Amino acid sequence: MDSETFRRHAHELVDWMADYMAGVENLPVRPQVTPGSIAAQVPTEPPARGEPFEAIFRDFQDIVMPGMTHWQHPSFFAYFPANTSPPSVLAEMLTATLGAQCMLWQTSPAATELEGRVVEWLARALDLPTTFSGSIQASASEATLAALLMARERATGCASNAAGLAQTGQRLAVYCSEDAHSSIEKGARIAGFGADMVRKIPADADRAVRLDALEAAIRQDVAAGITPACVIACIGGTGTGGMDDVWAVAQIARAHGAFVHVDAAWAGSALLLPEWRHLADGLELADSFVFNPHKWLLTNFDCSAHFVREPEALMRTLSLVPEYLRTHGADGVTDYSNWSVPLGRRFRALKLWFVLRSYGIEGLQDILRRHIDLAGKAHDALKVEPDFEITSPLKLALFTFRHRPAGMEEGELDAHNETLLQRLNETGRAYFTQTRVAGRYVIRFQVGQTNTEARHVDAALDLIRETARGLA
Ligand code: PLP
Repeated sequence: MDSETFRRHAHELVDWMADYMAGVENLPVRPQVTPGSIAAQVPTEPPARGEPFEAIFRDFQDIVMPGMTHWQHPSFFAYFPANTSPPSVLAEMLTATLGAQCMLWQTSPAATELEGRVVEWLARALDLPTTFSGSIQASASEATLAALLMARERATGCASNAAGLAQTGQRLAVYCSEDAHSSIEKGARIAGFGADMVRKIPADADRAVRLDALEAAIRQDVAAGITPACVIACIGGTGTGGMDDVWAVAQIARAHGAFVHVDAAWAGSALLLPEWRHLADGLELADSFVFNPHKWLLTNFDCSAHFVREPEALMRTLSLVPEYLRTHGADGVTDYSNWSVPLGRRFRALKLWFVLRSYGIEGLQDILRRHIDLAGKAHDALKVEPDFEITSPLKLALFTFRHRPAGMEEGELDAHNETLLQRLNETGRAYFTQTRVAGRYVIRFQVGQTNTEARHVDAALDLIRETARGLA
């Protein structure tokens, strides 16, 4: 494609993008397609000859678009948000155009230096401990894996990287709440701890990890000759938004010499709000902290901010520099590939820079407060309905509920709410997902899409009431 053809199509696509953003709320949030129906429309053989862009774009509209779930729909109340914003999308266009591989300082000095600066901005905006140094990773899963690897190396005096964990003869355990995200167990598998060495500690009624149970599990391991290597506290659990007491968890972990990682993938953005900073009390005791601007800070996936207290320990764990990756003649520069599991790095700082500058901290705070306020209103509205039950308390912008019509037996409620969720999502007018609370099937209601307003939440509440009562 020559540059003039590119220019013409790029203009068309920008028009399409602006129309999409303006009109996404008129589309069904989740498509009603059956598995395999999209693939069935795509030939099994790749094209032997190039096709005109018009044909490719037509298929994008006819085949791809009907199969998309619209995460940027203002009635997206499912999972956690992956919200974006126009400045972030514009930055992604530039990032894609530059196509830079930003693994080393010299492979794009601006990308490295901007990354350093924007993570400093984040640290200030969230009032993180001044001892933290940050970098941008692709995902919280990767940051947690890096933290687990750091913990492993600390517990084994760096022998594990050299000889392999098995050769150290040590057995290392990882501790987290039973509500903690699956990325922790996955990371523990990959890092060689083994899934069996992940202690899933019971949570209390408010879904915070039980400190007595944590202490007891660590003591039991120590008595059995197992080293407590890593304790992970969660600010904002995935199911119900449970908040661990970071300070207390870190005290227990430190008393036993364990590494402390804090997973605030979703809720970390709320630390931008001074009134919610108490959620991170004790963070100065942590060794590592991750939160995802790609969840709730208007920045396109992928953008996960990872902060550590000892970047040297992170680099000792992950850095591996063959001759072809050496930076010559620029001593003292940061090569962020030494801070993360993958070598290759996208220029992720650019979109964060665009977002932070376009909205300013105050603009972002206004949006976060709007989401929290709207979730609170939805929670209060369902709480007073006699046939609805709030099944876990409001945590920032997330709560869970279930429909409990008079006369329906407890044993029937799971199936009833599963059907309710399916019917709600089939309408395409809103999108919710489920979790379990104390074994019961419940529906999550989280507000976090950039453009969600009161009218979207009101419409979702009407839809829930109508659909539930129609079923009952
Ligand atoms: N931690 C928590 C609490 C999460 O909710 C999630 C994803 O929803 C993750 C970690 C994983 O995030 P990522 O997709 O960035 O790996």
